[in-house]
Amino acid sequence: MNLTTASPISVQKINESRIDQVDFKNLVFGNVFSDHMFECDYIDGEWQSPTIRPYGPMSIEPAAKVFHYGQAVFEGMKAYKDDDGKVFLFRPEQNMARINKSSKRLAIPEFPPELFFDAMHKLFDLDRDWVMPGLGNSLYIRPFVIATQYGVSASPSDRYKFMIIMSPAQAYYTGEVKVVITDKYSRAADGGVGAAKAAGNYAAQFYPTNLAREKGYHQVIWTDSSEPKHLEEAGTMNVFFRINDTLITAPTSDRILDGITRKSVIQLAKDAGINLEVRPVLVSEVVEAAQNGSLKEIFGAGTAAVISPVSTFSYQEKEYSLPSQENGFAKKFKTNLMNIQHNLAEDKHGWRYEI
Ligand SMILES: *Cc1c(COP(=O)(O)O)cnc(C)c1O
Repeated sequence: MNLTTASPISVQKINESRIDQVDFKNLVFGNVFSDHMFECDYIDGEWQSPTIRPYGPMSIEPAAKVFHYGQAVFEGMKAYKDDDGKVFLFRPEQNMARINKSSKRLAIPEFPPELFFDAMHKLFDLDRDWVMPGLGNSLYIRPFVIATQYGVSASPSDRYKFMIIMSPAQAYYTGEVKVVITDKYSRAADGGVGAAKAAGNYAAQFYPTNLAREKGYHQVIWTDSSEPKHLEEAGTMNVFFRINDTLITAPTSDRILDGITRKSVIQLAKDAGINLEVRPVLVSEVVEAAQNGSLKEIFGAGTAAVISPVSTFSYQEKEYSLPSQENGFAKKFKTNLMNIQHNLAEDKHGWRYEI
């Protein structure tokens, strides 16, 4: 399939690349952006004038609805380079499908997948050098949609902007993560927007996360909204538990985001013949397992950090430490996933997408 010949995307190239000014050895996550960005407006019921132009500020009126009613969704994905300089995305069709699912829930019109992939190909034709080689290094890709109609009446916007910006990211270790299981705050509720990557979900998490930080923890493990007895997600990651040799994670729902890392870990666990249970996880069983020594691991799964092992959790003011696992499931899945992403391992399930 050759999309480039019939592409409606107009391209304005940067005069001089900024790449030489970037210190790729000391990147702070998400602070530096590549030379180009993609934008496309939804006006009069149609996505139109798709454009790639130099990354930079844009002008938008203060009355734009995104500022008042939070009508905004996003995605997070990464591009990886192998030792031959080939660049790969990881299951990008999943991100495309998910941003449309998120959009639908926020009353935002869906974006055509072919145009999304056309835009991605064109962006990578221009900004390929921004993907650093090396295991764990990547170019983080942030597609997002915002409501751009002017007017503060509380109704869905009739104009939107779909954009893609890209930021080089270094491999990083989250180190040992200390988390608090909260029974006061919830991330999402039944019938709500927890399954969407809605910008507002993140805004709602910052305050409880700050409270946890003040007490020396890094993240919050959220419990369910009705009776805080089930474990749902860790920060902005899906969460897995290993009790003895069984891997357990909650099923996706209105409240639990359908993470691509999560579903990949589930597949890898099945491939490896690991005993896997996808079912609601009780706080009480995890606390009990921590007390009797059968709780071996807790880890978060998400695109940003791939896998983040938890070293300590606290629940109702009591702290529980996990045994350190040199060769645990977390490490195994992280290595497996990174090797597939960087074209160092066989891609049995067709997850790599060369771009
Ligand atoms: C993005 C996100 C995840 C992880 O999804 P991936 O597709 O694995 O990156 C998990 N939980 C929440 C709430 C998220 O927003």
